[in-house]
Amino acid sequence: MINNLLEETGSPLTIGIAGHTRPDGDCVGAVLGMYSYLSNVYKNAKIKIFLEKPADMYSFLKGFDMIDSTFAYPGQFDVFFALDCGDIDRLEGAGKLFLGSKKSIAIDHHVSNTGYGDVSHVEPEASSTCEILTRLFEDEYMDADVAKALYTGIAHDTGVFRYSCTGPDTFMALSKLVKFGFDGSRITDETFFQKTYVQNQILGRSLLESILFMDGRCIASSIDRRAMEFYGVDSKDLDGIVNQLQITKGVEVAIFMYETGTLEYKVSMRSNGKVNVAEIASFFGGGGHVRAAGCNMNGTFYDVLNNLSAHIERQMETSQ
Ligand code: AMP
Ligand code: MN
Ligand code: MN
Repeated sequence: MINNLLEETGSPLTIGIAGHTRPDGDCVGAVLGMYSYLSNVYKNAKIKIFLEKPADMYSFLKGFDMIDSTFAYPGQFDVFFALDCGDIDRLEGAGKLFLGSKKSIAIDHHVSNTGYGDVSHVEPEASSTCEILTRLFEDEYMDADVAKALYTGIAHDTGVFRYSCTGPDTFMALSKLVKFGFDGSRITDETFFQKTYVQNQILGRSLLESILFMDGRCIASSIDRRAMEFYGVDSKDLDGIVNQLQITKGVEVAIFMYETGTLEYKVSMRSNGKVNVAEIASFFGGGGHVRAAGCNMNGTFYDVLNNLSAHIERQMETSQ
């Protein structure tokens, strides 16, 4: 229960909440779900949310307008939560607020979590941070706003309840949430499946230009800055491309990368399970989960691909 995590703190008067850089659905859901929940528990507390601006499609969630993306705060928080974030660097500007607080609590499901909080509650088997929060939250303080946010997060990190991280505990959590009554399919349609025209165009282009290698067991594609400028898209518009690459028949590992600077790429990897992509991403300074991980790498597209392939090949050889 969340109250156990807050032991010794009594009733906090100031609470900070943050999540990882480039927040995805689980991160946004966890942060806003926590915001709504704590607002119900600590009615007199001042609660601040620090997060890079999420995609507008999440604006239906309560607390979205309270998100502070400046990370500027002069004081010290009684309690600070870091959610869905595996290491302190990925908290970006919120890192120093987290470390400077009286009690820092990290709640996460990344296998690569470095244990950077005063309390680090990490469940690597959980589908999502939102699944963990659903278990930690007490019914008494939950409402439809909390439930909607947590449902959004679970839906996103499980690919709408399909990925192998979806287990019996995930469905238990979902059953606790749906009781609050909201339109779950609308949430998944509007935040997960729906794409803008340009998002579809850039997805199509990534698929067209993808390359298959290692006898069809790996697929890779990249988008450079020129293409992003041409279509008028930013990194949020590229979410989901790696998942589409991954469902190519015969593929074990999918790699998608986009250029973030000269000879600099943000890399996303997805695996069907034989290859542990968290291990590879961690080697290159990133992290994630066994089947979904990411990192930032330098070099040309082919340099990056060669570096990654060596690790993938080695793992494939040893797993045979
Ligand atoms: P992505 O490929 O960006 O969708 O990320 C897949 C998973 O890996 C998510 O759980 C991310 O939180 C994690 N991840 C992505 N990039 C990094 C990174 N640079 N460092 C640590 N974890 C990452
Ligand atoms: Mn996340
Ligand atoms: Mn997550």
